[in-house]
Amino acid sequence: TSFGFKEVPEEEKSRLVGNVFSNVASNYDVMNDLMSAGLHRLWKDRLVFELNPFPGMKHLDVAGGTGDVAFRILESINDVKRRERQDVQEDDSQEQTQIYVCDINPHMLNIGKKRAIGMGLGEERSLIWEEGDAEALSFHDNSMDGYTIAFGIRNVTHIEKVLDEAYRVLRRGGRFLCLELSHVEAPIFKELYDYYSFSIIPAVGELVAGDRESYQYLVESIRRFPSQEKFASMIVDAGFEKVEYENLVGGVVAIHSGLKL
Ligand code: SAM
Repeated sequence: TSFGFKEVPEEEKSRLVGNVFSNVASNYDVMNDLMSAGLHRLWKDRLVFELNPFPGMKHLDVAGGTGDVAFRILESINDVKRRERQDVQEDDSQEQTQIYVCDINPHMLNIGKKRAIGMGLGEERSLIWEEGDAEALSFHDNSMDGYTIAFGIRNVTHIEKVLDEAYRVLRRGGRFLCLELSHVEAPIFKELYDYYSFSIIPAVGELVAGDRESYQYLVESIRRFPSQEKFASMIVDAGFEKVEYENLVGGVVAIHSGLKL
């Protein structure tokens, strides 16, 4: 089924993606909850569980938006510290944890910073907000212990460039993790999911954010995104090893991971 969408040229793609996130930055968190029925929270929890963050780590969350993944990483590190403090004396000389939230859209980052203040994390030195493009990162080679990208890679212009950059900034032993809307194969579930995404999401986008076109485009971009297997092979092509993926909710989302060895 074509659902009546045309191929979108590259410049148009960047413009539409820019529009979506500028138009909906303020509604973004509400829309996420609405459209995934709150499930995106569990998926992000799962991503961070897989990452297994540790105190002192240097982590880069790309397309980090309003900070959802970064907040979870920080929380997880604080949990580890609390646990360790029970039997091990905290070592204050420990290297400072650094969690970079990188996003191309300053509106999204600003909402994230405000959320951080609201959560009492306004003075948190571990959280660093940085405007930047996933395809051309400003971070040094071999500088990060971990790299995450959640619901971000689907909308970039060149997926390969993003993967190459992820590989470049990670140190040897560093882990790449990507959470993304993916492909559902089970027949009946697939039909239901298509109906939901092509009919309901644009309607909710219009109702809540007043922007049907952008949401329609976002749904179409899920279609265009490579299959789980194909995306895994692209991660391998970027140089990663031990590449694997896990489907959640039958492939509605998938978590891909790889190691730079
Ligand atoms: N990771 C966050 C989350 O899961 O809630 C935000 C995901 S949001 C769907 C996608 C984000 O990707 C937006 O904040 C958008 O600005 C950002 N983005 C799009 N293209 C980008 C690029 N080339 N480089 C960095 N960020 C980009």
